[in-house]
Amino acid sequence: MKIIRNNLLPVGRQYAAINLFGMLLIKHGVRVTPELINHERIHSAQMRELLYLPFYIAYLAEWLVRLAACRGNCHEAYRAITFEKEAYRHSGDHGYLGRRRHFAQWR
Ligand SMILES: [Zn+2]
Repeated sequence: MKIIRNNLLPVGRQYAAINLFGMLLIKHGVRVTPELINHERIHSAQMRELLYLPFYIAYLAEWLVRLAACRGNCHEAYRAITFEKEAYRHSGDHGYLGRRRHFAQWR
């Protein structure tokens, strides 16, 4: 996984990294842990099976719906996105991607 350190993305202090088409943007000073890498690899698997662009559209659409449901609480809305729930649930399980089923975020 290609990692690019920068000062701009992701926006927001509570976010450590953003995965753009399998490339990881991480702010300077953020510690890269095996769990973070695994979390982002799970997102890469989600992206590949949705052919990338539909992943971002579905992700953004779900975030907006969750944002309304969470009454503007951005972090709560973010953690409720199905793609994030799968990635957080399995970020500590380094064998997960080997046995992950397709579209597991919606199962
Ligand atoms: Zn994530």
